[in-house]
Amino acid sequence: MQPADLSFDRDHIWHPYTSFNKPLPVFPVARAQGCELELSDGRRLIDGMSSWWASIHGYNHPHLNAAAQAQLQEMSHVMFGGITHQPAVDLCRRLVKYSPAALQRVFLADSGSVAVEVAIKMAVQYWVSRHLPEKNRLATLRGGYHGDTFAAMSVCDPVNGMHSLFRGSLRQQLFAPVPTIRPEDDWDASAMAPLEQLLSEHQHELAALILEPIVQGAGGMRFYHPSYLKAAAELCRHYDVLFIADEIATGFGRTGRWFACDHADVSPDIMCVGKALTGGYMTQAAVLCSDDVATTISNGPANGTFMHGPTFMGNPLACAVANASLELLEANEWPAQVAAIAQQLKTELEPLRRLPSVADVRCFGAIGVVEMIEPVDVAAVQQQFVDAGVWIRPFGKLVYLMPPFIITPEQLSQLTKAIGDLARQG
Ligand SMILES: *Cc1c(COP(=O)(O)O)cnc(C)c1O
Repeated sequence: MQPADLSFDRDHIWHPYTSFNKPLPVFPVARAQGCELELSDGRRLIDGMSSWWASIHGYNHPHLNAAAQAQLQEMSHVMFGGITHQPAVDLCRRLVKYSPAALQRVFLADSGSVAVEVAIKMAVQYWVSRHLPEKNRLATLRGGYHGDTFAAMSVCDPVNGMHSLFRGSLRQQLFAPVPTIRPEDDWDASAMAPLEQLLSEHQHELAALILEPIVQGAGGMRFYHPSYLKAAAELCRHYDVLFIADEIATGFGRTGRWFACDHADVSPDIMCVGKALTGGYMTQAAVLCSDDVATTISNGPANGTFMHGPTFMGNPLACAVANASLELLEANEWPAQVAAIAQQLKTELEPLRRLPSVADVRCFGAIGVVEMIEPVDVAAVQQQFVDAGVWIRPFGKLVYLMPPFIITPEQLSQLTKAIGDLARQG
């Protein structure tokens, strides 16, 4: 890429969470293959991010490429209103099959944030249909992240999230404390007291509890005990509040099970998936719900219509690639791959805990997190990682890995070594 292209980028193009006044460096990537990104100057970087949880099979995968190419010859897109097609039917059949048992109905959305909006609309419409329209607020956990659109922002962590900027535009939701008992710790049922109090006090106005099961991702990269998830689902049932699991980051094997809910044998009323759904090839998400939710909405006002329908709903190209990605998961090599990554992350990151610059080390599934004492200088550290031949994108105090499932032990060691080098330098 020419210097002029980079300066055009800097002057005209917004990147995620950036300011034109303080642009962060961007690195031009020309192609990507397997677990590597290739910069336009030919340098190759081992990928520790899976492009934000998505590229679980690695880049430029022959099976995914073939599925996209074959679908292109048929149709890349056709409207979903009044039309259906094989790629969508195959995909939804698979989603119903692999998701928790109660989830039987599928809404195809076009991104994770939209899936969260759809899930929230389902919950609100459910209670309207049950003649309890005052049940329209949401309960959630502090430390959460559910996307960047308005309803999704309203359930993001109120401190880390964008609440103060958008005060006045965001619905005030109800927050329970961050769950603090970790998966490896002993469970203590008294940890549920704050959530129980919140649900019991506000049940009359609550449509749903929405949370990220076990793994709180972009809101802080924290892991909590499966028993919390189980108990939260039971509390929802008890207080007649719908339970929404946001599996957008955790779905499709990342935690060692198909879905994080599976660790606690929990079947939510509504579940959102996205990110890894198409193996990182294109934007697509889905919302699954129970028969009760779907039937109740369908018996409600507005002729029982569920009020959502994006232009690119059920995009055949995305569905075809998602089917191919799920076929790769069906080959069932991922459980051993994820278990091996999990083991290696523990072995190689855990010793960093002793370093004075490190506040905490957390590992769960194929996710490894090193929390530093001080916030990381992203521009400087990103350059240092690129010079070391790795692609790791820190945020705040967090330096973390969620590599493609196909990463080799040698490649993974290079990633953990780069983080170790950063932590040792203070
Ligand atoms: C990334 C993410 C979202 C938002 O998905 P987008 O595709 O970025 O809109 C929502 N919830 C969780 C848990 C996520 O990790």
